[in-house]
Amino acid sequence: MELWYTEYQTKNVGITCKVKQTYHTEKTQYQDIALIDTEQFGKMLVLDGTVQTTIEDEFVYHEMISHVPLATHKNPKKALVIGGGDGGAIREIIKHPTIEKAVLCEIDGRVIEIAKEYLPEISCALTDEKVEVIVDDGIKYVNQHKNEFDVIMIDSTDPVGPAVGLFSKEFYKAIYECLKEDGIFVAQTESPFFHKDLIRNAFKNVESIFPIARLYTCAIPTYPSGYWSFTMGSKKYDPLETDLDSIPKLDTKYYCPQIHKAVFALPKFVSDIIK
Ligand code: SAM
Repeated sequence: MELWYTEYQTKNVGITCKVKQTYHTEKTQYQDIALIDTEQFGKMLVLDGTVQTTIEDEFVYHEMISHVPLATHKNPKKALVIGGGDGGAIREIIKHPTIEKAVLCEIDGRVIEIAKEYLPEISCALTDEKVEVIVDDGIKYVNQHKNEFDVIMIDSTDPVGPAVGLFSKEFYKAIYECLKEDGIFVAQTESPFFHKDLIRNAFKNVESIFPIARLYTCAIPTYPSGYWSFTMGSKKYDPLETDLDSIPKLDTKYYCPQIHKAVFALPKFVSDIIK
């Protein structure tokens, strides 16, 4: 008998994938976790019935949430990831040559353990000596650390449960305080097709706190609509002014110097969202 995974991404549309095998399911204090293997996308991490990451397309999200802010900053040494328990953003961050320390603050320790067991391709850097893993609420962590990080990535689930606060104006203010004087942060801000209000609010809030606010997008087939956005707040550096020759040569599959600038050229319907 064939087994299919279906996720309802909105009330009216979803994604369906043929399943090869179910490796693991469990309910933690925070969420339902499933680790399945699919014909099209390979191994897939699912939290509360929502695809988080897959072997086939994870490189897009993880490279784009990491390298765009890291290359925008002139000399990033210390980075923080909030959420991101699969370890994909951390794997990318430690590729960056100037990084001395990367901290991961994930609320659900089971996500980290399951990623280590079933997704070594993604979680492989979590044991690197430059990496510190903290199991705690990212909101608490950010409020307890001031003027400490060069770059912060909000690699969160959708704004439900413990992730709701990660999309609030108060949290963006705390992020501002947690960054050094020339710091940069990036948050994943969902789909320009399906989540216009979320993008509009997040951008408006970031713009009211940071002198530089930018939106960029990329293609991720397993996320709702296949088209995703990231919102950046920067205290000093503008990604549109990055000297492309200064970008380090990195082992990446999506990110490259041309993409660094190109992703900020928004389709008109997307730039209209943040007008
Ligand atoms: N890297 C993934 C991807 O490719 O889309 C992003 C999802 S990552 C697994 C999201 C993580 O955010 C989840 O593991 C969830 O437990 C975590 N999370 C949600 N709320 C959080 C909070 N308040 N503090 C820290 N982590 C949180």
